[in-house]
Amino acid sequence: MPANGSLPRPNSSSSPSSSSFCGALWNVETEGVTRELKRPCIISIKEMGKQNVIVPEQLAVKSMMAIAADPAHRSALLPPLSPGLGVSCTSYKRFVTQHDVGGGARINAWVDSMRASSPTHAKAAAVLSASLEASHDDKYHKWVKQHPSALSNFDDIFAASKGMQIVMFLDYDGTLSPIVDDPDRAFMSDAMREAVRDAARHFPTAIVSGRCREKVFSFVRLRELYYAGSHGMDIKGPSKTTKHTKAKGKGVLFQPASEFLPMIDEVYKALLQKTELFPGSRVENNTFSLSVHFRCVDEKIWSSLADMVRSVLDDYPKLRHTFGRKVLEIRPSIKWDKGKALEFLLESLGFGDRTDVFPVYIGDDCTDEDAFKVLRDRGLGAGILVSKFAKETQASYSLREPAEVKEFLSRLVEWKRLPSSMS
Ligand SMILES: [Mg+2]
Repeated sequence: MPANGSLPRPNSSSSPSSSSFCGALWNVETEGVTRELKRPCIISIKEMGKQNVIVPEQLAVKSMMAIAADPAHRSALLPPLSPGLGVSCTSYKRFVTQHDVGGGARINAWVDSMRASSPTHAKAAAVLSASLEASHDDKYHKWVKQHPSALSNFDDIFAASKGMQIVMFLDYDGTLSPIVDDPDRAFMSDAMREAVRDAARHFPTAIVSGRCREKVFSFVRLRELYYAGSHGMDIKGPSKTTKHTKAKGKGVLFQPASEFLPMIDEVYKALLQKTELFPGSRVENNTFSLSVHFRCVDEKIWSSLADMVRSVLDDYPKLRHTFGRKVLEIRPSIKWDKGKALEFLLESLGFGDRTDVFPVYIGDDCTDEDAFKVLRDRGLGAGILVSKFAKETQASYSLREPAEVKEFLSRLVEWKRLPSSMS
């Protein structure tokens, strides 16, 4: 592993493609503007372009399937169902982009999808009808043949890793912890923490989350890990020395959106004040992004709350808003994502241009797809999606829930202890 602050070689590519990670400078591209960044760095990002949209997560996809089942909504709000899969992340992204005229239609469609996903809403009961429920198992059965269980195929996966360095990348919410109503209570179990700790003893391990880095660390509480918070916009090395970290206290490695901090803080204060009018609403400051939580807000005022957020963002065209599970996230308009974070961390570990590395990325969100795509495009390691539903994904394998993630990690450690794994 290189010492902290060692720089990659100069980058010969003008675009931040997945294969262009051999440069001394890291490219961070905005709409039409590419900036080269040194590591560690506090950077300038100017001339932001138009707002972008990131797709929602698993529940939103499920809820969109629900809305799409209602002909009255399907033609007006949503793209057609993907054959056998329902509404995909890709088609939803295309849909919300096409309906981004003034932002109103997009906000309304998103609020409608959230409303349909609410278990108390009459529409949810109607659209999660017998026909959809009956078809779910069949669709999942077909889907899991294309994205087989990482547990059932464990030996095949790691037979390809002989002689390679395995590096673990783990999303947090929905992967290591259950999705809960109160985001402050998304605790991981002690058993899961022990499984992650064991894995980190054998492999370099990173947590890659949309959460504030400090927040996700407060849940995980393992100093021997790398942490990439704010969707990879805030990367820090381990504060505890392990055999994978030769230098203690590696500090902040990369913060590509530092210039946005004052702007994000300004919007945070504005939203804090304005959300006082919306009982149950919460604004979470993730340092390089903000989350407006809807999960404890009466759905009757979801549209008004979303309109209020949109009106605040009208004055900040350099920020974009993205959709999640009953959460509206606000983040800088820079092209930096979990896939870029994965590549940056591999580079930091000394595997930037090597083929003897076997990265394993486990996540449940649409935002994890950027990392799955990097692995697929580079022909490296294994991407594993955590999902109980058929879902369009770049991941090669699947696990159904955090309990299976824990079992997978435990099995990986057992396998690593076998003499045969070293050959
Ligand atoms: Mg997640």
